[in-house]
Amino acid sequence: MTKASILDERPELTELHSHVGGAVDAAIMWSIAHQQGIRLPTKDYWEFVELISVSHPDKVNNLAEYDLIFRWTELIQSSPLAIERSVYEIIGGAYRKSNVTTLELRFNPMKRNREGEQDLDHIIAAALRGQDRALLEYPQVRSGLILMMDRTFPLELNAIIVEKALRFRNRGVIGIDIAGPPNPVFSYREHQGLVERAREAGLGVTIHTGEEGRIEDMWEVVEHLRPDRVGHGILSAYDERLMAVVAERGIVLEVCPTSNLRTHAVRDLEELRHILTTLRSHGVAVTINTDGPQMLGTNVVKEYRLLLEHGIFGEQDVRESIATAQRASFLPQTMSENGFPYALAGVSRGGVDADNAL
Ligand SMILES: [Zn+2]
Repeated sequence: MTKASILDERPELTELHSHVGGAVDAAIMWSIAHQQGIRLPTKDYWEFVELISVSHPDKVNNLAEYDLIFRWTELIQSSPLAIERSVYEIIGGAYRKSNVTTLELRFNPMKRNREGEQDLDHIIAAALRGQDRALLEYPQVRSGLILMMDRTFPLELNAIIVEKALRFRNRGVIGIDIAGPPNPVFSYREHQGLVERAREAGLGVTIHTGEEGRIEDMWEVVEHLRPDRVGHGILSAYDERLMAVVAERGIVLEVCPTSNLRTHAVRDLEELRHILTTLRSHGVAVTINTDGPQMLGTNVVKEYRLLLEHGIFGEQDVRESIATAQRASFLPQTMSENGFPYALAGVSRGGVDADNAL
């Protein structure tokens, strides 16, 4: 029998690292695909579930193969209607399943516009509408969107994504990210100006790096992009100097245990234990996330339970990590009045507001 845990008390949880492409329930993805008449490679629902999930450790060999699965989910989510429903369903689902009350969702709008056939502003506005609808339904939840640049895009395309993030920053976009398949010729440094603009405008900056591959990439990110948070960053556990810099600058790592195990970025639970223990003993702030709960068959509660069950985290570590995630969120800490990541007149938590009473 498992021991009593803070997790049994249904604590309010924070998820900082979740991709829209990996977070929508398979049944809903199936429904969206059919609603839009998308030709899928199978007419069998269970084969489809297999297609869009990384259910066992042998499914993918590395990060590049993992990214290939996103092609399907991104295609299905490539319309205003589809992205609206996706975002809407993720927020409600995370709250109902795991009591996630602070949620940051990330996606690349340019991988949702069918190579320019769909208008980018419509895609982003629809995602925000999905978020608004979910927040009206669950006023206990706070949520914001992070727009992702891509490591396979030229600078000009990534510049457009930052422009969009700036345009929608007062409507529920709270940050930017760089993600996507590994690309040996990609330069993080070249994106310094773009990241700077976003930061000056008050957007949060998180960057995918230090997941697998070269530790030099993470150095480049830390030195030149100066992110608030790093997506993964686990490789730094093997570099004392880098850990010292990360800790000193207060950069928070978004660690995704199951994801790292499934993509083989981390060999096994023993290596995961080594990484998390090392990071924490060097004062690096660590948060625990899913990366994509549906694709990886997980949720934030399961991630914490995995660490507890294997003695990698104790109860106090779980509490600390929950608090760190809450603190590291890009959502304003003081916006709890209406739950929206921007001022929305007339909407309040509970009760009848003045406008409606007229
Ligand atoms: Zn990620």
